[in-house]
Amino acid sequence: MAKALLDMAQISDILSVESADTFTRPIDAGNAIATVKSANPVKVITVRTTAFEPAAEGGSASDETLGGASRAAVVAGFVPNDYQVGQTGTIVALELHVAVGISGAIQHLARMKDSKVIVAINKNEEATIFQVADYGLVADLFKAVPEFAELIPAGRPA
Ligand SMILES: Cc1cc2nc3c(=O)[nH]c(=O)nc-3n(C[C@H](O)[C@H](O)[C@H](O)COP(=O)(O)OP(=O)(O)OC[C@H]3O[C@@H](n4cnc5c(N)ncnc54)[C@H](O)[C@@H]3O)c2cc1C
Repeated sequence: MAKALLDMAQISDILSVESADTFTRPIDAGNAIATVKSANPVKVITVRTTAFEPAAEGGSASDETLGGASRAAVVAGFVPNDYQVGQTGTIVALELHVAVGISGAIQHLARMKDSKVIVAINKNEEATIFQVADYGLVADLFKAVPEFAELIPAGRPA
């Protein structure tokens, strides 16, 4: 809306500010980084928040982490739309990202591969998700996940 009112082009999803008029942003679903210069007097930008260090403490905004889900899970009705991670969903960059039964489609990977530690559980050892995972387990999720839950105290059933 702001760009329309100002009649100026928007630079979306920036990864860095190189100078007052120059920014970098991902293109081709994150496979390449473009350097973009804007001659507009007002810069209308959107920011990929995970590419920047957190602001200093003292603010009052809430910080919530939702579950990581693929579009297939959303379409199947397992989780709400808000949970979709990927090109047409949200961006996540978690300290620990556990991808369970996720194939690793480029549209999904593009917005989650900045997570610090990625653990993948998939029964198909050829699954693309293993290419970005720091730790991979080839296993049936219905067996592996309950076993993990047993090992984590907070995950144990009461
Ligand atoms: C324009 C466009 C935009 C898109 N945007 C997004 C987006 O924003 N986000 C997104 O996620 N997708 C997006 N997609 C869809 C994307 O291409 C994939 O179809 C989707 O990510 C696949 O989700 P999935 O890996 O959960 O499902 P699937 O491809 O069905 O893969 C399921 C995986 O689970 C494994 N599995 C199955 N059963 C078990 C079991 N019992 N134990 C262990 N592993 C098991 C399988 O081996 C498989 O690897 C987009 C597609 C297009 C064309």
